[in-house]
Amino acid sequence: MAEDGPPPFDVTEGRGALVVSIPHTGNFMPRALNDRLAVDASVESDADHHVDRLYDFLVSTGASVIKANWSRWYIDLNRPADDSPLYPGQSTTGLCPLQTFAGKALYPGGDVPSPLEVSDRIAACWRPYHDRLQALIRRARARHGRVTLLDAHSIVSICPRLFEGRLPDINLGTNGGRSCSAELRERIIVLLKAQNRFSWVADDRFKGGYITRHYGRPQDGIDVVQIELAQCAYMDESVPDKWSDARAADLRALLRQVSVILSG
Ligand SMILES: [Zn+2]
Repeated sequence: MAEDGPPPFDVTEGRGALVVSIPHTGNFMPRALNDRLAVDASVESDADHHVDRLYDFLVSTGASVIKANWSRWYIDLNRPADDSPLYPGQSTTGLCPLQTFAGKALYPGGDVPSPLEVSDRIAACWRPYHDRLQALIRRARARHGRVTLLDAHSIVSICPRLFEGRLPDINLGTNGGRSCSAELRERIIVLLKAQNRFSWVADDRFKGGYITRHYGRPQDGIDVVQIELAQCAYMDESVPDKWSDARAADLRALLRQVSVILSG
């Protein structure tokens, strides 16, 4: 990969039974491509802002963490490589998005990625991310006999093109109960029910994307859950780059409790 910029992803390997995937927190775009876009990805992006920071306590618990550095506008790691729709019949975003969440065309003048460009992006970012994620899952399962994968996300709380109204703070996705054991799903739900600081739903609008659906095989000892957070639950959405420990503190405390359950 001869492009400028950071590696496609960073990995921290731990010895625990929890693997965490953070596929959308990066906002890097190669300069030549960024110049083609209607917006500057380094300033405005549909990234899952600060999700890596929100969960930075995990490394000390022994979890392995893989975090993408490149923008989902380059390639979306949580979509299948053949770009089949995750939510047929609903508005969704694709493998190499052509629009922002708000519906703005990313490639003015129709200069959209060619099939060759899409396959280059798969080879540069998508395939290496998934190869490494797969290796982390295998390694943890070999060591512990089982593994839990958390696919960690966040999104703006109001996005009319993608969902109605204001998103609940915490959106647990288990592909309708198929991506993890019933017991694990229930333990998380019991924890969420026991608090009243944050609103939450399970397997509602966000049921889990490609990563949740592809890797979740509870019958083979691989439990996967997706947590999609509304960004207003931990940051000022009007100022995407502004992180505040104070704003995030309550949510981080709850996520710590979730991670204890996930770590088994
Ligand atoms: Zn995301």
